[in-house]
Amino acid sequence: MPKVTLNNGIQIPVLGFGVYTIAPEHTEQVVTEALAVGYRLIDTAAAYENEEAVGRAIAKSGIPRDELFVTTKLWVQDAGDDSAKRAFERSLRRLGLDYLDLYLIHQPFGDYYGAWRAMQNLNRQGAARAIGVSNFYPDRLVDLIDHNEITPAVNQIETHPYFQRGAEQDLMRNRGVQLGSWGPLAHGRDDLFTHRILNEIATAHGKSVAQVVLRWLIQRGIVVIPKSVRPERMAENVDVFDFRLTEDEMNRIAPLDTGSSSVFDHRDPQSVSWLGNHRFNT
Ligand code: NDP
Repeated sequence: MPKVTLNNGIQIPVLGFGVYTIAPEHTEQVVTEALAVGYRLIDTAAAYENEEAVGRAIAKSGIPRDELFVTTKLWVQDAGDDSAKRAFERSLRRLGLDYLDLYLIHQPFGDYYGAWRAMQNLNRQGAARAIGVSNFYPDRLVDLIDHNEITPAVNQIETHPYFQRGAEQDLMRNRGVQLGSWGPLAHGRDDLFTHRILNEIATAHGKSVAQVVLRWLIQRGIVVIPKSVRPERMAENVDVFDFRLTEDEMNRIAPLDTGSSSVFDHRDPQSVSWLGNHRFNT
């Protein structure tokens, strides 16, 4: 599995497995299958309420800890210096781990400056090998970088053919922040899998649309974490390293960009309030 080097020298697999929306009672089995297929990066979150099941799958897999890359995220209710530290310890306990590879601030809401202070300390102590953020638009990202010691290693944001984030990627590159794509397959929405251009490119390579989309993201230097509960799709999504899109094919995908989210607007006051006031894993 190819890796990308983050701004602190830590290496992250360019392709991993996301477990959002997988019910806790199914997660152990699904993650066990994903590990068997070859995934080594698992992306969960306190808010997904399935960290314990991820931890059980990891423990049962017998895969050496240093071959795995485990990401989890801090939810809004636990932003703040002391509460972030406690939330990190709870996540570690649920995962059954003694360190994390990547700890992310899940949303740019609440006292995330306090959270970042705690996370910088966790990073310095080695409890979190890398720290980063998620869903940060450029203004909040730059402000966080400019007023803290440690620059986030990753900003995980919605990125797929309908929401390509090109300018944001340029800014992040200049600031040393790795773009991680969530929802790389646009949750399968908006007829992604039947899109004419994507199907033409897929046919030309004897690949599926999902594989073309993941390949397109990886060729842009983006880390991807597709989710599937079906083993055959897990295998399909990881099988993207034996072909390459041409420049012309990359250019054909560029106009699919709508420039906006198909899921959630992190700048809409109602959405911010709705999301920020949801509590998980209390
Ligand atoms: P994805 O873009 O990965 O799409 C998942 C959907 O696509 C599922 O319905 C899945 O169905 C389907 N699918 C997967 N592979 C294929 C395939 N090869 N062919 C056809 N359909 C396919 O959406 P997610 O929202 O799950 O995003 C991925 C991960 O990103 C999450 O699991 C999570 O870890 C992270 N994330 C982070 C967020 C954040 O705020 N930081 C927000 C949202 C997600 P099925 O399972 O039935 O195969």
